[in-house]
Order: sequence, then structure tokens, then C-alpha cells
Amino acid sequence: MNVVFDLDGTLADCQHRNYLVHGVEKPDWYAYYQLCGLDTPIWPVVELATNLIRRGNRIEIWTGRSAIVRADTEDWLNGCGLGALRGAKLLMRPEGDCRPDTELKARWLATARESGFVPDLIIEDRTRMIDFWRSQGIVALQCAEGNF
Ligand SMILES: [Mg+2]
Repeated sequence: MNVVFDLDGTLADCQHRNYLVHGVEKPDWYAYYQLCGLDTPIWPVVELATNLIRRGNRIEIWTGRSAIVRADTEDWLNGCGLGALRGAKLLMRPEGDCRPDTELKARWLATARESGFVPDLIIEDRTRMIDFWRSQGIVALQCAEGNF
């Protein structure tokens, strides 16, 4: 089975840095991303991902987080779930890309399908993404409140 996990709000608890971008006049995305190394793992979701990997499922992580913090993100993932997530492919928002996540991830889905990776299941927190995945015929599980 092919499974895609979102990162922020799904595998990583980013609530401590949300104040920088949510409900503010001028979101500070740079500062928001720079603090990602301080996120705590959302253990039930990390545990789900690691068990799916151990059982031979293919896992990818698709995140709207900017690639400017790719190194920090990889370090965080390596230290998470006893390193089980190390082998998961990580797709990140290209630097300077400001597209809405629905547009960005729709593009990734199209590319993935063309390359033969068809997600069977997606775990995600954001409601509008869940709605999008379901509109694409993909089973999508929402792991948290996601009306933002
Ligand atoms: Mg998310």
C-alpha cells in the first residue's frame, strides 16, 4: 500500500510556532519555518507511520513546509520514530513558492500518478486538503481539527 503523510500538524506538532502565521496581519513565514526543529512528534501518527513502514508499505511525506528548512526537517525526521521515517521520500514546497497547499499538492499528486505512485491512503490535518484528496478518490484520514 502507498501512504502519504502530511507533516505540519500531522506528524509534527507545530502549535508553538503557529502564532507567527495564523491570524496575523503579516505572517512571518521565515521565522515560522526556522522554528520547525523544535516541533514535538505527534506520537500516535508517528507510530502509525513507522508500523506501516515495518509492514512493507511505501510511505511518502508531502509537506507545504518550505525547502529552505530541508536539512532541519530531515534531521527532525531522522530523530523521530527511532529513525524509521528516514527512508521515506520527502516532498517540500520549493523555495519562494507561495501557491496554496491545495494547488501544490495537486501538482505532486499528478506527478506521482504519472510516475506510478498512486496513494492508497493519505493522513492529513487540514480540512480543505482532506476534501481535495477525497475528491480524487483517495481514502483520506483527518488526524486533527483543520479549519484553517
Ligand atoms: Mg498539515
